[in-house]
Amino acid sequence: MNDTIKFLDLQKVNALHKKEIDEAVARVVASGWYLLGGENREFEREYAAFIGTEHAIGCGNGLDALTLIMRAYMEMGVMAPGDEIIVPANTYIASILAITENGLRPVLVEPDPLSCQITPENIEKAITERTKAVMIVHLYGLCAYREEISEICRRHNLKLIEDNAQAHGCLYDGRRTGSLGDAAGHSFYPGKNLGALGDAGAVTTSDSELAETIRALANYGSQKKYVFRYKGRNSRLDEIQAAVLRAKLAHLDSDNRRRMEIADIYFDLIRNPEARMLPRPERGSDVYHIFPVFSARRDELQSYLALSGIQTLIHYPIPPHRQECYGDWNNLSFPVTEKIHREELSLPMSPAMTDDEAIRVAEAVNSFR
Ligand SMILES: *Cc1c(COP(=O)(O)O)cnc(C)c1O
Repeated sequence: MNDTIKFLDLQKVNALHKKEIDEAVARVVASGWYLLGGENREFEREYAAFIGTEHAIGCGNGLDALTLIMRAYMEMGVMAPGDEIIVPANTYIASILAITENGLRPVLVEPDPLSCQITPENIEKAITERTKAVMIVHLYGLCAYREEISEICRRHNLKLIEDNAQAHGCLYDGRRTGSLGDAAGHSFYPGKNLGALGDAGAVTTSDSELAETIRALANYGSQKKYVFRYKGRNSRLDEIQAAVLRAKLAHLDSDNRRRMEIADIYFDLIRNPEARMLPRPERGSDVYHIFPVFSARRDELQSYLALSGIQTLIHYPIPPHRQECYGDWNNLSFPVTEKIHREELSLPMSPAMTDDEAIRVAEAVNSFR
């Protein structure tokens, strides 16, 4: 009997870099300095260089990163309560919470049914006088950016914000996601492509005023010790997580390449109309945080794979507009988004998977009738 193939075996993922992670943790423990120190500064420098922005600001998690971006724009007078932010209807709840936490209004738009990504046409249709920004989400680790989206933002004087929680390392035309808009939020939740050993996040931007404002807001609103310019919050990236992230950042591109190899095996081998894959990209620059398949019989497929010893997850079972916390939207209709949430199933994916495991997954998917 074969072992179960986990959706994501974090123990194996971190075992790939165990020695460097252990050294990083030991270095911080020995240093006696645990917050806002040298590891944080070096990680911010290295991560900004990796993404290709002038600034990276470490913070507590990915939700905080996105929330801080819009809070800073409000402090800067770019946005005010009630202003509208265009966001895909098919995203993780955090993208939308970051907007409503600031008293801003999310305007949900449907994605393209084939790519599951937000479209320039639907963005343009949703723009009103109160629109201040477009938030794109590089969902599943696939690049959501298009030149047309930048052009629309320029034409209407809108900020372009990227939710890069699922796509660290993804490239668009030689540039990294996280450097394509005005600001980007990153999550280093343990299961993300660049994952910490706990909660962690960052904002990247090349806007120095925005960077300075976010840095203050994340540190109680203070730029100078015991002097508080804003009613800030406490959202810091701790030194242990920063040190672990530095160790893992050095391997991010090669870990992502391994994800692409697993995706290639799936693309080469899976041939079952009951498990539809997204279009295979021409240029291999997507980083496959998730490898989704879509099936009208999704729950049956999931049970079938479970019986074959293959663990899968659903990203995500209920769309944001159908959640209890957004009761006002429960009667809205987003058919494309609802179909995605009804049909999506995420196959096992990680840099620690072997070819044989990926082949076993593909064969099991193919044998589903
Ligand atoms: C994980 C995730 C977040 C939030 O990150 P946390 O670090 O868990 O707060 C935001 N957006 C998307 C798309 C995510 O996948």
